[in-house]
Amino acid sequence: MSRSLTSSINQKIEHLLNYPGCGHIELNSRKAIWTSSIFGFIHVFILTFSFLFFVPELTILIRYGFACLFLLIIALTVIPVITRYFKHYITFHLLGLVFVTFYTIYQLGGIVTSAGLIVASFSFVLLSIPLQSVPITIVLFSVYFGLTASIGFLDPYLSVPEQITPSRNSIIWMINTLSMSALSLIFVVDFITKQHQFEKLEANKQKELNDAKTKLFTNITHEFRTPLTIIQGMTDLIQKHPEEWLKEGTDKIRNNSFLLLRLINQMLDIAKIETGSMSLQMKQADIVSFIGYVTELFRSVAIDKNINLRYIRNETPIYMDFDPDKLVHIISNLLSNAFKFTSQGGSVTIKAVLNNAQDYILIEVADTGIGIKPEHLDRIFDRFYQVGNSSGSKGGTGLGLALTKEMVELLDGRIWAESQRAIGTIFHVSLPVTRKATVSQHENLAELLNDLTTAAFAGVSSSKTPLASKKADHYSIPTIVIVEDSQDVALYLEAILRQEYHVEKAPDGKAGFDKILQVIPDIVLSDVMMPEMDGIEMLEKLKSDFRTSHIPIVLLTAKADHDSRLTGLARGADAYIAKPFHENELHVQLKNLIEQRKKLQERYSTLAEFPETSDESIKAEDSFMIRVRNILEKNLGNDEFDIHDLCRELAVSHAQLYRKFKSLSNHTIADYFKLLRLHKSRELLTKSDLNITQIAFTVGFKNLSYFSREFTEQFGISPGKYRKQ
Ligand code: ATP
Ligand code: MG
Repeated sequence: MSRSLTSSINQKIEHLLNYPGCGHIELNSRKAIWTSSIFGFIHVFILTFSFLFFVPELTILIRYGFACLFLLIIALTVIPVITRYFKHYITFHLLGLVFVTFYTIYQLGGIVTSAGLIVASFSFVLLSIPLQSVPITIVLFSVYFGLTASIGFLDPYLSVPEQITPSRNSIIWMINTLSMSALSLIFVVDFITKQHQFEKLEANKQKELNDAKTKLFTNITHEFRTPLTIIQGMTDLIQKHPEEWLKEGTDKIRNNSFLLLRLINQMLDIAKIETGSMSLQMKQADIVSFIGYVTELFRSVAIDKNINLRYIRNETPIYMDFDPDKLVHIISNLLSNAFKFTSQGGSVTIKAVLNNAQDYILIEVADTGIGIKPEHLDRIFDRFYQVGNSSGSKGGTGLGLALTKEMVELLDGRIWAESQRAIGTIFHVSLPVTRKATVSQHENLAELLNDLTTAAFAGVSSSKTPLASKKADHYSIPTIVIVEDSQDVALYLEAILRQEYHVEKAPDGKAGFDKILQVIPDIVLSDVMMPEMDGIEMLEKLKSDFRTSHIPIVLLTAKADHDSRLTGLARGADAYIAKPFHENELHVQLKNLIEQRKKLQERYSTLAEFPETSDESIKAEDSFMIRVRNILEKNLGNDEFDIHDLCRELAVSHAQLYRKFKSLSNHTIADYFKLLRLHKSRELLTKSDLNITQIAFTVGFKNLSYFSREFTEQFGISPGKYRKQ
């Protein structure tokens, strides 16, 4: 209760004393001085009015009290409104109090008969500490020392007025000393606590900075590893099958090395801007056609992603100065974001028009994508800032917009964004129209770009390449589902795995989960950072769904750091492979896991009791098998019961149950059911008095000769002979 009261008072005081642009430290010193003035005011008020009513002859002290109250009232009203000259004002205010006090001490006849005012004046000097200015504190202390010394020297020439009797002097001395030391104590303790809070705040800030750095490193390594994986993998493929992979492989290597180059350039640009060494190379040319040219570079991405790309251009050409390299970066960063955050069937529109006064060109990039919440909107231009999960899994470093903004400002322009969640985002760029640079002689606008910039586009352009259709027969070999958002990586994985696996692919965790439910593969290979649903979330869903819990899952990811490896394994990943990896490493891992599954089949292929285990995942499979077996056993005598009834009871599809059951036990359900019936009949043959026909009926065989044949085949002995034995 009292805590909430103090904190609400504290908030009110902060509200009163704060002003736009006021830092933490400054607010703190304003607060310290203002609150001490309040306490001082109350103290002086009580004393002065007590004197006035009870000892009105103490005129010197009453006058002094009113003088102090006057100065304090001014301070209390001025402090909340003064901003720029705060320190100056407080210095004068404190000096005023010190001078008035020493004048009163002079009137009272010296230090000894000062009724404790010498102590009071020392607290005024102390009040300079929150200003955190060494010169101001030195000035105040020097004045204090000087005045104290002067009064000391003058002492023999001063006379004590009659009103100050020794007893009054000592009582007021005591009151003043006590209250002033109490005030000083509160003030110093408060100041030290605040200082500690600052240190904590500082430490938190430092931690945030470190976290941001770690995140940056993780992101950057991810960005580096993915292209490197493809380059390494393609090199291996070309070496092994040059005739098949030479063309496609070298294309991929080139594209991915351009991607790496783009990343490095982005980082260098940031460093350049930071050191102020980024220069402008202005050319005068038609900016409308130039933007059209840059937009066309994204055409293949648009077709690839099935997104409608439109360019609404100013009706007439606009000849103006611009730096082609910077402009290409600005437009391509905005367009690549628009494509990144817009899903299939959406649209991206870019517009370039002049404002009414014709002194600015307004460029707009609008998309119908996921949008940005208002609370994130003013932070997206910060370096490394990415909105939540959704963008983190789409890759990128969060540098794009920061760099874009810096470049726009370098061109004396402005950039801002409007957005509505789930509706879309519009980025606006306005650039001043000037015509001072030399007119470009280039006929072809593309020539305005230097090589590096053109290289930057290799990374964003389309990467769809039809797969060589050399698929193995997929019934005899295991099925693998590859869940990977990078088309290039998926293509490469398919290329190295399709000889030994029937390969199915999905572009993100959500689609991956659906695909896996549909095909119930023998193994899953999944990336971690993906849009829609990331690899870890998919893994959790698969492992907690009994239809898919048995499938081994390998996480393939660039997040090679220790933490994410642990997260993956803790959630039940069966293996973890870091990009870039070696082809053989992947093959060996996958084979091992499939072999391990085969071993598990031994556990379920007979009807024997399962051996004890401490492995939670095996326990889960045990309970699935027990559930199936219980249902089947309940229906042993029911010859109408078939696999569809079982599927209904388990709430799975026929195909799902078939694949799961087969991969766990290496039996089909029908075989297993028959096995159960035969075992039950064998048990009844020894333990019951029923005749063989009755037993056959009890376990669901309607046809006696069929029963005998199956029994003999299974146990190598006919039911009749078995009973006799
Ligand atoms: P990089 O551009 O460095 O590869 P990035 O695209 O994540 O990485 P920025 O371009 O700086 O980084 O964008 C910052 C964040 O702003 C993005 O991560 C995303 O969350 C959000 N964002 C940017 N553009 C859009 C957009 N058109 N629609 C929705 N969100 C966007
Ligand atoms: Mg971006």
